[in-house]
Amino acid sequence: AAAVTIEGVSKSYEVRTGEDVLALDRVDLDIKPGSFVAIVGPSGCGKSTLLSLLAGLTPVSSGRLGIDGDIVVRPHPKAGVVFQSDLLLYWRSILDNILLPIEIKGLDRKAYADRARDLLAQVGLKGFADKFPSELSGGMRQRVAICRALIQEPGLLLMDEPFGALDALTREQMIMDLQTMWIRLRNTVLFITHGIDEAVFLADRVIVMSPRPGRVDLDLAIDIPRPRR
Ligand code: ADP
Ligand code: ADP
Repeated sequence: AAAVTIEGVSKSYEVRTGEDVLALDRVDLDIKPGSFVAIVGPSGCGKSTLLSLLAGLTPVSSGRLGIDGDIVVRPHPKAGVVFQSDLLLYWRSILDNILLPIEIKGLDRKAYADRARDLLAQVGLKGFADKFPSELSGGMRQRVAICRALIQEPGLLLMDEPFGALDALTREQMIMDLQTMWIRLRNTVLFITHGIDEAVFLADRVIVMSPRPGRVDLDLAIDIPRPRR
């Protein structure tokens, strides 16, 4: 499991008209390896920005962001990402979607195919490897997106409202499945959600981000003690 260090990180977006938008203002946060951290807070408080920075999708404006001591300047090989939409490629089979990160990195597909099928079985999609995204429901596709993020056993799993687009029943099931998988994998998870219920259920630490004019603080962290490990 990977350690995450966030030191004095600020992010502002340049917008064409007027002043820059300050999305994060000097955020400090350490995440211990193997912890499950949920981040909640109102829309616009900078949650997605924080995750995009950690995913290496956009650069910090100032400060330092580290994954296992490496300064993040591009997507880190130890990080897997899941977004609200599944972002599956509709012309590729389920198996080929899960193996996409392997192909991009030029690794041997065959060495990971069994693991991909194993992950599918873990999320209740045994036998779906050769189907296509259009043949699956939204919840099933999101399960596939999680498999794709987990194919390389990432030390850090970044999730941005992964269940936000799902109906209530599917969401409940996915929350249970994610917990089961996490207990098996025990990697570090950063989980953004609007659902305070799923945050409290899944996480051992819930961080509440609150917006203030021109400033965003990570001003309240609730550590949830539980006999988990
Ligand atoms: P959250 O995920 O908590 O809803 P975001 O990180 O998406 O918050 O947004 C934080 C702030 O940054 C908001 O004011 C938002 O409008 C602004 N913002 C986010 N992305 C961009 C962007 N690409 N360009 C300009 N402003 C942005
Ligand atoms: P409830 O309030 O539904 O009775 P439990 O006491 O079963 O909840 O669990 C409280 C919390 O502890 C849950 O949020 C769950 O995440 C966690 N938990 C319970 N049992 C386990 C377990 N065997 N492994 C990991 N986490 C567990």
